Amino acid sequence: MAKKTSAEKEYTVEDKLSKMYELQTLVTEIDKIKTLRGELPLEVQDLEDEIAGLETRLHNYQSEIKEFDNSVTDQKNKIVDSTALIEKYKSQLDNVRNNREFDNLSKEIEFQGLEIEFSEKKIREFGEAINNKKEEIKTLSETLEGRKADLTQKRGELEEIVSETKQEEEKLREKAKKLEASIEPRLLTAFKRIRKGARNGLAVVYIQRDACGGCFNKIPPQKQMDIKLRKKIIVCEYCGRIMIDPELAGIEE
Ligand SMILES: [Zn+2]
Repeated sequence: MAKKTSAEKEYTVEDKLSKMYELQTLVTEIDKIKTLRGELPLEVQDLEDEIAGLETRLHNYQSEIKEFDNSVTDQKNKIVDSTALIEKYKSQLDNVRNNREFDNLSKEIEFQGLEIEFSEKKIREFGEAINNKKEEIKTLSETLEGRKADLTQKRGELEEIVSETKQEEEKLREKAKKLEASIEPRLLTAFKRIRKGARNGLAVVYIQRDACGGCFNKIPPQKQMDIKLRKKIIVCEYCGRIMIDPELAGIEE
């Protein structure tokens, strides 16, 4: 690199391009850190939401079991009532005055017997439902425990990465700041403007396979030659990014 370190401290175009590419590399690194940190809190949040959902479901299952238990108690009470009625009717049978009374009481006794059978069937069904719910609770609890362990781990990772990357980011920012001071304001403003408008945050790109490294539109051979000469700052006519040759970016073709 031929540096024109004259009294005016003027940099060559090549120097300017080189510095801007270096700045690009630094800010891209900072972008990557931000992205990395940006995704982890989201993962933690997702896990927290999932756990809250599982806990609600677990609570609901427990409420359902309570309802089934209450239903079983209701049916047991019905059986007690029916049994009492049967006892009563049976004792009345001893004192019947005619066949009609006897038939009526017999029918009542039969009916209450059927009621008891029905209640017993219901109790069996509720018992099965309770067992099924208990199985579901067991599975759900295991899943919940697993998710809680995941959350503890992710939270730890997040804390670690936040503290680690914070230091790295600060270092990169400091380097970038120093570098920015050596780039003329007009170019730095252009750099920032281009970067802001670019979706991938790239303001300086190198030619890749005869195309702009930012928007991948083909660059004519003549323009590529001009870029290689490093005598003037050339921007992509499609995306406006500053283009350099791969060699200046330290890329071997
Ligand atoms: Zn382009």
